[in-house]
Amino acid sequence: MKRFVAILTLLALALAAPGILTHGPRSTPKIALTFDADMTPGMKQNLLSGRVKSYNNTRIYAILEQQQVKATFFLTGMWIELYPQQAKALAQNPLFELANHSYSHPGFEQPCYGLPSVTLEGQGLVQAKEAQVRKTQALLESLGVHNTYFRFPGGCANPSDVAMVERLGLRVVHWDAAGEDGGQHNPQVIVRNVLKQAQNGSIIVLHSHGGPKVPATAEALAQIIPALKARGFEFVKVSELLTHNQ
Ligand SMILES: [Zn+2]
Repeated sequence: MKRFVAILTLLALALAAPGILTHGPRSTPKIALTFDADMTPGMKQNLLSGRVKSYNNTRIYAILEQQQVKATFFLTGMWIELYPQQAKALAQNPLFELANHSYSHPGFEQPCYGLPSVTLEGQGLVQAKEAQVRKTQALLESLGVHNTYFRFPGGCANPSDVAMVERLGLRVVHWDAAGEDGGQHNPQVIVRNVLKQAQNGSIIVLHSHGGPKVPATAEALAQIIPALKARGFEFVKVSELLTHNQ
């Protein structure tokens, strides 16, 4: 009996910790396009030194507006600080929704695709991780955005990181269809990656920061949108996809 109660307790705990969301309902042809705007200290240095001209791929916004397609942008806090006018314009555009992608895009768990570790700056590790979330929440609030979603850089997190984000009142939203546009110069590869994975309820991840690492995202997007529309998918924001809170 004692063991039975213990199992029930574990089950209840598992249900109470919903964890990482990677898609919406599979029953309806709704799909969410999401774009991450990364910004690491190294990227910021590239920008300030002039090595990279821009980490703001404006062609993506233009295509989405032209096609009247809704999208959700997961912004890093440092990106918001470097592109305040663009961030404000995105926040004010009714087609778009903004969410939290950490402050400086560290890997919360290592290894994480070569991303730097969370810097402690005199705090403990948990506090430093929390600060990564809180700082960007504050920046989003300053844009008038009351966001409730967080995406880990590189998708790298352990269960205690997920619990921390949930403690701060946010849901972790990752993806089930990755364009793998990082470093991809051939738009056809990105198009193929997305189209082979997209299904009802999918959350597609691409990148909107541009720069030398994602040169073909906009070209791919121009093909992905009509192809998915032709398959009967409706593009919605993440909040519209996840309305049932699954
Ligand atoms: Zn990212």
